[in-house]
Amino acid sequence: ADENNRVLAALDPLTGVANRRSLISALDRDVSRAVRTREPIALMMVDIDHFKRVNDRYGHPVGDQVLCSVVDVLRGRVRAQDLVGRYGGEEFMVVLPDTTLLGAEQLARELCRAVAESRCRIGSTEGGSDTRPEPGGTNIAVTVSIGVFGGRLESGDSWDMLIAAADRALYQAKENGRNRVEVATGLRRPAAQPAALLQRALGNELAREWGNGCSDGNHRRRRRRWTCTLGRRHAGQHPQERRQRRARSRSHGFNRSVATSALA
Ligand code: GH3
Ligand code: MG
Ligand code: MG
Repeated sequence: ADENNRVLAALDPLTGVANRRSLISALDRDVSRAVRTREPIALMMVDIDHFKRVNDRYGHPVGDQVLCSVVDVLRGRVRAQDLVGRYGGEEFMVVLPDTTLLGAEQLARELCRAVAESRCRIGSTEGGSDTRPEPGGTNIAVTVSIGVFGGRLESGDSWDMLIAAADRALYQAKENGRNRVEVATGLRRPAAQPAALLQRALGNELAREWGNGCSDGNHRRRRRRWTCTLGRRHAGQHPQERRQRRARSRSHGFNRSVATSALA
């Protein structure tokens, strides 16, 4: 029963595909793997065009059927190792491990065409009193816009950067008229931030060691290296501040104020 609950908690109840939470945890895992192996990875954001109109015209339960029918089209065309999930509302994500941008773009175009050609066949819905399906079922024209990211990753790249890139491409696809595919040109990597983060983490570690009375040779060496890079990083600072910092590090052998602020 526990296993059953675990599986159910990972799925979107309406469409039966992965929900947002399990999509992100799968993407996170695949991103780490792609960074390690240097294999390419691709990601698609798929958004139904003017879906609000479908709801407005046919009612929410028919809208739900359209969501399921789009999922069927997506699921029927991806490989076993690819993951289709519902990112939210009428937006789906496809995670494509070991896939180049070119491969993902081709697949996206195929999916886009397949959805447009599927003309969702909507049968009479059970139970819903406010549904208005035409007798014997009806065909609803539905299209999607797709944003694609694909490429090799570097250490420090994270799942949210991939989603942001695919999202930017999706936005472009909407802007350019919908029912189309656009690709992201690359990830927006925060410049120099990984170095700053590392620096900060090292500073925290050193300050902790120092606080614990540790001052062996290894600690002293790392401490010197740390203050040295920090000095270089602050090279543009006001000369007076630099003088003060130098004076402080002389009197303490270690820059106490910087260490304390690094702990913040
Ligand atoms: P666009 O082409 O710009 O994406 O237009 P859109 O109408 O698809 O986008 P918008 O974000 O304005 O509307 C999304 C709609 O999706 C609104 C919301 O009611 C509907 N929706 C979200 N989740 C569900 C759902 O679970 N079932 C149904 N039937 N509709 C949903
Ligand atoms: Mg939409
Ligand atoms: Mg949307």
